[in-house]
Amino acid sequence: MQTYAQFLQDRYNVGSEGPLADFLSRRDGRLLLGDTIDLNELAARYGAPLEVVYTPQITAQVTRMKGYAAQAREAVGYTAPFLYAYATKANFAAEAVRTALKAGVHYETSAAADVEVAHMLWREGILPSDRLIFANGSKEMHYLDAILRLRIAGNGNIVPVLDDLDEFQLLQRAQLPFRFGVRERAAGNRDGTHYGNDRFGLSSEEILFVAEALKSSRHSLVVYHAMIGSQVEDREHFVAMLRQSVENYARLRKQVPSLRYFNFGGGVPTSGYDLGFEFDYVGFLTDLMTVVKETCERFNVPVPELIGEFGRYTVANHVVQLLEVGQVKAGESGTADWYLLNGSMMVSAPDSVLVDQEFVVLPLEGWERSAREVRFGGRRTCDSDDVYPRPNRPALVLPEQGKGMVVAVCGVGAYQSMISGRGGAHHCLAPEARRVVIEEVNGKLIFTEVPQQSLEAIMQLIGYDSPRPASLPAMLPGLRDPRLPAPVGRVVAPRTRLQRSSRSTVLPRVAASL
Ligand SMILES: *Cc1c(COP(=O)(O)O)cnc(C)c1O
Repeated sequence: MQTYAQFLQDRYNVGSEGPLADFLSRRDGRLLLGDTIDLNELAARYGAPLEVVYTPQITAQVTRMKGYAAQAREAVGYTAPFLYAYATKANFAAEAVRTALKAGVHYETSAAADVEVAHMLWREGILPSDRLIFANGSKEMHYLDAILRLRIAGNGNIVPVLDDLDEFQLLQRAQLPFRFGVRERAAGNRDGTHYGNDRFGLSSEEILFVAEALKSSRHSLVVYHAMIGSQVEDREHFVAMLRQSVENYARLRKQVPSLRYFNFGGGVPTSGYDLGFEFDYVGFLTDLMTVVKETCERFNVPVPELIGEFGRYTVANHVVQLLEVGQVKAGESGTADWYLLNGSMMVSAPDSVLVDQEFVVLPLEGWERSAREVRFGGRRTCDSDDVYPRPNRPALVLPEQGKGMVVAVCGVGAYQSMISGRGGAHHCLAPEARRVVIEEVNGKLIFTEVPQQSLEAIMQLIGYDSPRPASLPAMLPGLRDPRLPAPVGRVVAPRTRLQRSSRSTVLPRVAASL
């Protein structure tokens, strides 16, 4: 029988000690996040489910990418700067945005609320005045209004990236000069695999119209934006898809001397989804800079400052969900067994259902045990779709004897908590796990705990005015709260000692220990 450690060795060529990915390692049989945070210890101390948020990983991501860009610039002799922007829609959590800004990022917004947050952070000095703010997406009135207010408040670095001509008509009336960007529509679905991405941006005729209109105005055009997709793991394809956009930039630059930035948007991939992940970031930037440099030479225009808007790359790896296998159930004839989680992938990692996203999943223990194929089912939703991986995907491989095993679901720091929502009533009222936020302050790691969401809080959110789950003591052995008096009342649970009925029923305790 193959052990789990052997399986990992064969499949991913990683040992059971040492680095597993660029954000994850195992030392002395313990799984470490950022080679620092002992997930086994956190699971022992707090129990599962537990959300572990480790913001120094964000700093590491930003710092590394700046290093990669420096290497690429050096190799290519690329004279213009490289700018790292954080696409905040990937994770708006204050600690994530704050950490990224501290690491020196520029800012990318996708909606009105996003600009309001930026405005607040700018007023507080957390978003420094020298950082650029790229406002992308189709802009409704509130979004345009928020951009205008930030500009009028004195921020000259807010750069609206135009998505249609109506936006332009409104914003160009502003008395204060704007530095504009244009987003190239053709880039969005150039390879035919990013349906939905082609709804953004302007046609080449519209871009020329904007450029022409700005010539005799107080405003200027500075950014050419071309985004080709998300989690693009084939770097040659990535650069090949941008090549035409670079040429379009250079052609436009000949007519518009104020143009100075080429922004390739998002798409740079995260390592958080697959242990087998490989992407040569330096190679990608080197190739891209080479193409830009050669193209600009051919068109006889200066090379632009390069901007990347990093969403999932910035934040995916700084959050891990620890989930416990609460029950094991045999699969139906010939199919993988079920590891039923005291939690829910559908709630913790909604992209697993929405866009078939996979995540790095590793057990905290049992690496010496036999490996077996299993699938996850969420016990907290009772939803037949709350399964992972999706039915069309191969099963997971994990150690056997899964009951009680805690697994780390990695790579969930981008989009997942924003899509699922924070502090809301979730599917089947699945409570949000206890969260431990670990930040670095003056060289020290500071732990902040947020308790698991209470059932009372959830009930209130959905309109129960004074939610008071019956305060009867739990009836199951092991669940008994010693502070409470002896149990009375009716209980909907097997093998209780007291069956005498009373008015109230016992609400199940949605406790971590259940
Ligand atoms: C969502 C988005 C990003 C971030 O994308 P990732 O693939 O997560 O890096 C960047 N730019 C724009 C315009 C976006 O809409």
